[in-house]
Amino acid sequence: MSKNKLDKGKVIGTNCYNCKFIDEKEMAVDPKELNDEGGIDPRNKEEMEKAKKADLITLPGGSKADATNKRFCCNEQVKMNVTVRMCCAYWDNVGVKRPWKKT
Ligand code: SF4
Repeated sequence: MSKNKLDKGKVIGTNCYNCKFIDEKEMAVDPKELNDEGGIDPRNKEEMEKAKKADLITLPGGSKADATNKRFCCNEQVKMNVTVRMCCAYWDNVGVKRPWKKT
């Protein structure tokens, strides 16, 4: 589960680095690991399957220069290194309003 607890800051736009599942530890990223828009593409068939299921995407309009590091996604369904240029269907954080859900 999360090691990253976003406090009540205003979230504008979602990405892996403001998701509750992201680990706080930043790791160096080799530009060769990055795609042209600053994300990390799945490296093998297993990762490709997980990425497809999670709809793990690289957001458009970025570049390698936008991703100066990578972090680990702790979501059990993902468990891969991601960058700030990425997001997926499991994005979540404390304070998200879901009117259909009574807490
Ligand atoms: S891959 Fe999905 S679950 Fe993991 S940090 Fe990014 S948005 Fe959150």
